[in-house]
Amino acid sequence: MINFQYARANDVADAVRQIAADPTGKFIAGGTNLIDLMKENVERPSRLIDISRLPLKSVEETVDGGLRIGALVPNSDLAYHPLIQQRYPLLGSAILAGASQQLRNMASTGGNLLQRTRCFYFYDTATPCNKREPGSGCSAIDGLNRISAILGTSETCIATHPSDMCVALAALEARVHVAGPNGERMIAFSDFHRLPGNTPQLDTSLHPNEIVTAVELPAEGFAKNYSYLKIRDRLSYAFALVSVAAALELEGALRGQPANQATFAHAADLLLRDAKGFAHNTFKIELARRSIVRAVTQAAQATPQSQSDKKIR
Ligand SMILES: Cc1cc2nc3c(=O)[nH]c(=O)nc-3n(C[C@H](O)[C@H](O)[C@H](O)COP(=O)(O)OP(=O)(O)OC[C@H]3O[C@@H](n4cnc5c(N)ncnc54)[C@H](O)[C@@H]3O)c2cc1C
Ligand code: SF4
Repeated sequence: MINFQYARANDVADAVRQIAADPTGKFIAGGTNLIDLMKENVERPSRLIDISRLPLKSVEETVDGGLRIGALVPNSDLAYHPLIQQRYPLLGSAILAGASQQLRNMASTGGNLLQRTRCFYFYDTATPCNKREPGSGCSAIDGLNRISAILGTSETCIATHPSDMCVALAALEARVHVAGPNGERMIAFSDFHRLPGNTPQLDTSLHPNEIVTAVELPAEGFAKNYSYLKIRDRLSYAFALVSVAAALELEGALRGQPANQATFAHAADLLLRDAKGFAHNTFKIELARRSIVRAVTQAAQATPQSQSDKKIR
């Protein structure tokens, strides 16, 4: 039995005060990832700070035509929100590709951003893992690495981030609003998640004493020419092997090139030029190349899902 304290935050300032006072504490929102990690003994917070009742559950239009999504908006509510369905269907489609309906009902927007990797060794406390225990080594590099990354890896960690929603938020160029003891700040989505480098234990640029309060979407939602393509071992309730969020603004051409398969294949080659495979995941490089071409083609044709996907559904 590992003891921990439980406290409920009254408001955002109280949540920040509590986490700043106890850096080994953790916020809990939907609990769908944190509780699993605690049961596996991977996370051992001294205190759980329950933020689930904070007033961060609304989706509001911003003055510049975008949307502000509160950090506690459940994944289901967000995916089915009329403004998301009409203006940001790429985001709705990515969220609905993840987990199960029951999990999406519990999972929060902020928690989805901060969920941790699904690398097998990260969950297995009997094995070395630099992300779980810095300096202990990486079991995946010479181990079972079929689900590991082909881009952005380092000599200390080759894990992926498991979120579907975050792939769409990156394509939409969202921004993350956070609050801490020194006030509020905004982080560009592309700066929010960190590559492992030499410090794989740090997943994000969020400081340990900060809370995510909202995610902001810019006005452009790419509602017509979009596609979220998730390739996985089975069609539901599985994490992605490769996922692509494509959002296109078409003006008859793509940077002077015709919008055709050859142009998209060239773009895919450029995106994957630094890709590196390991013993069991080299197949992902070609899979990713084909997935990019397929997703961008679907986006260009304004047919977000391929015919084969429609048949299976
Ligand atoms: C069986 C299973 C299958 C899944 N499949 C998928 C999938 O296919 N695709 C996918 O994308 N996801 C999948 N998920 C993951 C799921 O989407 C995440 O568990 C969920 O989004 C996490 O949200 P939560 O609110 O429950 O987070 P919690 O578990 O409450 O918290 C997760 C982490 O975020 C921190 N946190 C939460 N909110 C905040 C905040 N506002 N500010 C700062 N820190 C915060 C917590 O301290 C904790 O470290 C799956 C999960 C399970 C259990
Ligand atoms: S890939 Fe990262 S998470 Fe997986 S074992 Fe290596 S260090 Fe740990």
